[in-house]
This record gives sequence, C-alpha cells and structure tokens, in this order.
Amino acid sequence: MRGIIAPRYAYFAEYRFKYLLEPEALLAKFAGERRQFVEAIINSSSRARTWCTVDFDALYQQHQAERGRVVKALDWFQEKGWIELESKQMTEVYALLDASFDSEALSTELHGYFQQQEASEIARIHAMLALFATDHCLSQRLAAYFGDEQAPERCGHCSVCHGQVAHLPEPPPLQPLAEHNLQSLCGTFIQRHQALKGFTPSAECLTRFLCGISVPLFTKLKARGIPGFAALEAYPYAAVRSWAAPPL
Ligand SMILES: [Zn+2]
Repeated sequence: MRGIIAPRYAYFAEYRFKYLLEPEALLAKFAGERRQFVEAIINSSSRARTWCTVDFDALYQQHQAERGRVVKALDWFQEKGWIELESKQMTEVYALLDASFDSEALSTELHGYFQQQEASEIARIHAMLALFATDHCLSQRLAAYFGDEQAPERCGHCSVCHGQVAHLPEPPPLQPLAEHNLQSLCGTFIQRHQALKGFTPSAECLTRFLCGISVPLFTKLKARGIPGFAALEAYPYAAVRSWAAPPL
C-alpha cells in the first residue's frame, strides 16, 4: 500500500468457552491474587445456555485485567481440560504511516491496478487453453513461451507429435443473453442495494450477482437469497458484463 499502512499484528476479537468443570471447582484451584483474577473472568463472562462470552472491555475497565493475560489464562484452562475454548473473528491491525494521502487518487490507482491484474490473468488462462488445443508441438510451444528459440520444431514425443491434437469441448448451448430480462432478474437486488447503499449497483456489481460471485457486500445484502442470484452463472463473465453494462 505505497508505504501508507503497515501490518502490525493480528488477534482474535472474540473468545467464548464452555465449562468442562464447574466454575466453583475451577476457582477452587487458585488462591490469592490469581483467584481474584480467575473470579473476574468467570463473573464478567456472560453465560448463555452452554457458552460463555469473554468481555475483555469489562475485565480491563473493572479489574485492570490485560487482554494478553486473560487469553493466556484461558489457553491454560483449555490445556488443562477445564474448559473448551473457541476463538473467532481474526482481526488484522495496521499502522497508518502517512495520513496525508489523497484517497480519491489512491482508489482510482488501485482500481486501475486490479483491472490490469484481472486482464492479465484472463489473458493467461486463454493462452493456456490455446496451448492445450494447439496443433503445434507442445514442447516447442512451451519452449517458445519461455523464450527458448533453439527448441526443435517437433520434439517427436508429445501428444501432438504423436498425432493427437486435443479438442476442448464446446460450451453447452445457451439461450442468448438478449432474451433475458435484466430488470426482472435484478429488480429485487437493485432495490435492496439502493436501500442499503443509497445508489444503484454498478454493472460490475450486477454481473457478480448474476454470475453468483460473492463479494463482502453480498453478505450484508443477503444476496444469495435474492431471486436472480447466480441466474447466469453458466454464461461467460465478460458476456454478462457487457450485457449488463448499459445504465438502467
Ligand atoms: Zn512435440
């Protein structure tokens, strides 16, 4: 990220545990200051039917218990077989090294960078498919790809040299995209997007919806449950995108 941020550390934001030993029995194993500390963990963790959620904020504010010490204690209890411990929501922490960047310019630059990455990845896949189906010696083609101009025209060993040219299967016939109705496939999705974000989804976003490619936003929109999700997953992404491109 251009020296703007730097990764620092990662931690689990949420811990919950289940007693394998009654809390009183667990507490009885400790004395003095440690007993107070363990008691604070037990008392501040809200207990649902079986699982207790650790409240790090309360532990810190009311008992000056440092997060690191609490986690260490929980790990120790688990090791001893006194509790079953679960951690989740891995959180990455970054330091902001330079706050004076132009976010508009940076997002334009990043978007351009990812578009370029996407285009080169797609070109690479096409080059690979072309190689599979080539009627030229495979060894010669590979050598040429890696810049070796000295390789013989025919290696005499590969499948092509043995007269077996691979034929990739044709994609299954599909109803022309023009016969689909964008509005009826995406209507509900567009409404929900508008309600949450305040604007109409981009053609890129619609294409992901229609092709069934999940992005973080779709979790918030519960997009998987909306009719039309993945309705066009059998079609090439680029074809769906150019079909969805005209503004609605
Ligand atoms: Zn060959």
